[in-house]
Amino acid sequence: MLLNMKQLLEVAKENKFAVGAFNVADSNFLRVVVEAAEANDSPAIIAIHPTELEFMKDEFLQYALSRVKNSNVPFVIHMDHGDSLASIMRAIHCGFSSVMIDGSLLPFEENIAVTKEVADVCKKINVSVEGELGTIGNTGTTIEGGLSEVIYTQPEDAMEFIEKTGIDSLAIAIGTAHGIYPKNIKPKLKMDVLEKIKEEVEIPLVLHGGSSNPDEEIARAVQIGIQKVNISSDYKYAFYKKCREILSTTELWDSNAIFPECIEEAKKVVTQKMELFNSTGKAAIYREKNIKPFRAGLL
Ligand SMILES: [Zn+2]
Repeated sequence: MLLNMKQLLEVAKENKFAVGAFNVADSNFLRVVVEAAEANDSPAIIAIHPTELEFMKDEFLQYALSRVKNSNVPFVIHMDHGDSLASIMRAIHCGFSSVMIDGSLLPFEENIAVTKEVADVCKKINVSVEGELGTIGNTGTTIEGGLSEVIYTQPEDAMEFIEKTGIDSLAIAIGTAHGIYPKNIKPKLKMDVLEKIKEEVEIPLVLHGGSSNPDEEIARAVQIGIQKVNISSDYKYAFYKKCREILSTTELWDSNAIFPECIEEAKKVVTQKMELFNSTGKAAIYREKNIKPFRAGLL
């Protein structure tokens, strides 16, 4: 079933778990996320960055939408790091049920203005909006960017930002970075910042750059009150590690001969993340609640 992010994360907040948002740019990775979610009876978020959408093309969404609508596990199809009203409109046109508008590199007031503009449009058609405050680090290994130095989210700013923009969820900066950390860098999350934000803020909170952080830190952040964790590098790495191994030891050329084992390797990582986020088995809660599937349209 397809839900919007508000529907998905409300249940996560009530039941103290987080939902993984996995970046997808082709049918192999769509299969990994959807099949792992079904096998673990866990909700999942299919995250698509504007550059990933540009690669897969808009028509791919027809396939993705029909696949998740045919599932009895809840999914959200979410635009990751939308960068303009234009990219948001493209996502809505494709059938996404949720978008992120990332104005985090702009000055505070400008971030509010661009985020509010998107939230005002999306609210009218039931599409959820995630905003971002503070900056997520950049390890230099991904397309998602970020800054080399993390600017932590100020708890007092968070409340003002939410009130003025009307967003449904907030990505916060507590010390994560996009990509896989270089060997000499040990990421450290500031749990006290998260705790302070949690005291001020009611809406669900999002952690970007969740790959290669220590498991205990992520589990603790979920316990304190994170409802969505973004994962990209970790599971893509597992897929291509297996792929490299197969291509360097065989002469195979058929996709259906090469990719099945790669898909299985990536599913193992997704399964482990679902356990870490405490979302395994939680799809049942959504079925019991009889939540109405997402439909874009005037409310
Ligand atoms: Zn991100």
